[in-house]
Amino acid sequence: MEYKTNINFRKEVLIKLLNAVIVHENKIIQALHDDFKKPAFEAVLTETNYVKSELKDTIKNLKNWAKPKRIFPSLLNFPSSDYIYKEPYGKVLILAPWNYPYQLALCPLISAVSAGNQVVLKPSELTPNTSEIIAKIISEVFDKSHVEVVQGGVEVSQELLAKNWDYIFFTGSVTVGKIVAKAAAENLTPVTLELGGKNPCIIDETANLKLAAKRIVWGKFMNAGQTCIAPDYILIQKGMKNNFVTYLKEEITKAYGENPNKSNDFARIVNSKNCQRLVKMIEPEKVVFGGEYDIEDCYISPTLIEETSIDSLIMKEEIFGPILPILTYENEIEIETIISKYEKPLALYVFSDNYSFSKKIIQKYSFGGGCINDTMIQFGNKRLPFGGVGHSGIGAYHGSLSFDVFSHNKSIVKKANWLDFPIRYAPYKGKLATIKTVLKWL
Ligand code: NAD
Repeated sequence: MEYKTNINFRKEVLIKLLNAVIVHENKIIQALHDDFKKPAFEAVLTETNYVKSELKDTIKNLKNWAKPKRIFPSLLNFPSSDYIYKEPYGKVLILAPWNYPYQLALCPLISAVSAGNQVVLKPSELTPNTSEIIAKIISEVFDKSHVEVVQGGVEVSQELLAKNWDYIFFTGSVTVGKIVAKAAAENLTPVTLELGGKNPCIIDETANLKLAAKRIVWGKFMNAGQTCIAPDYILIQKGMKNNFVTYLKEEITKAYGENPNKSNDFARIVNSKNCQRLVKMIEPEKVVFGGEYDIEDCYISPTLIEETSIDSLIMKEEIFGPILPILTYENEIEIETIISKYEKPLALYVFSDNYSFSKKIIQKYSFGGGCINDTMIQFGNKRLPFGGVGHSGIGAYHGSLSFDVFSHNKSIVKKANWLDFPIRYAPYKGKLATIKTVLKWL
């Protein structure tokens, strides 16, 4: 149980983990490719380097994050000194998804360990090669009684959820998030739920369309659109649509060539079940670009859809694939009608050179986080909390906040004995007027 109380021990084990992830980096990149042809560039940018940077940051700041914080005391308690102690929750369960299967498993694990917890991690069954290398790394670095990887699918996940945990950290779909929340409620276990949603991308008439197209293509088609904060659909001012579609086509071709199925920079859908789910969303008469697929290869080309109805299949649920529906609006009321039809999304993006318009949008709608004039880069700043709101999640993490997520804040007042005001003690007779005056001044 050294990990619970000994900060140096936690630091040493995280250094060991850092060395192990460096040693295995190429194998991790290969595993991500074997699982769904994640391009090496994306694997380094969004997975391996992210984890290394999280480890370095945690190792550097751990002592500071873990030490008791002195808090300005209340005059009511005079004389006292007040503190917040960071206490590990105890046994933590982490359930991870498949879309960033390495980073979204390892980052919460690093934070849970840094905060002094015992951890059980269940990586996704849909990316078996990555899960295997994660299990190998963890077993090399940690004692099983400290951190353990349990592999398996839904049944294993449900068995784990039936146990009593001190904290559950879940990343995945809204549907499973509700199952996790119910299981946690049985034991009043605190949870973080990192979920998804339909992320709008709003473009007004002042936007730099060419640059917007470039940044949206990057955010939408990275990881073949299987990113929780990828733009889900476009809402563009009606008169701008045709130009924008032209720019989108140019940018897609620039990024992935004439045949994206031959590009080494374009990932595959994680499995044929998901591929079939996505193919059903493509209504051929609405396709303005792409629309090719090969279910055996789990391939769907970057696809643009001109959409006019929010009742179509593609507008019913989170897409989570390389298909981008483009809807138009004429005024702000139409934007509101569409956005308010959906639960609060994990991300929202607005492209505009009119700051009062973008400010109005980001203040009016509730969503996890987002960008003005870009997509997805909110993830890149560890000082920004990352998490949803409403159906897109409960709680947020990243940077020092991740350490706090896995720590209970224990409030302690250290009272001095050299002075003891008699007023608070019964009998209260004759003290009411005095206490009223004192309270007025506090
Ligand atoms: P998922 O909910 O299907 O699976 C996540 C985890 O839950 C896996 O480990 C899986 O084994 C387990 N699981 C699946 N069904 C279960 C059940 N019935 N009972 C108990 N456990 C179960 O999610 P996914 O398909 O792996 O990931 C895609 C979803 O995750 C998308 O909705 C996406 O938006 C969301 N996501 C969110 C974030 C975020 O940070 N907010 C990040 C990545 C993905």
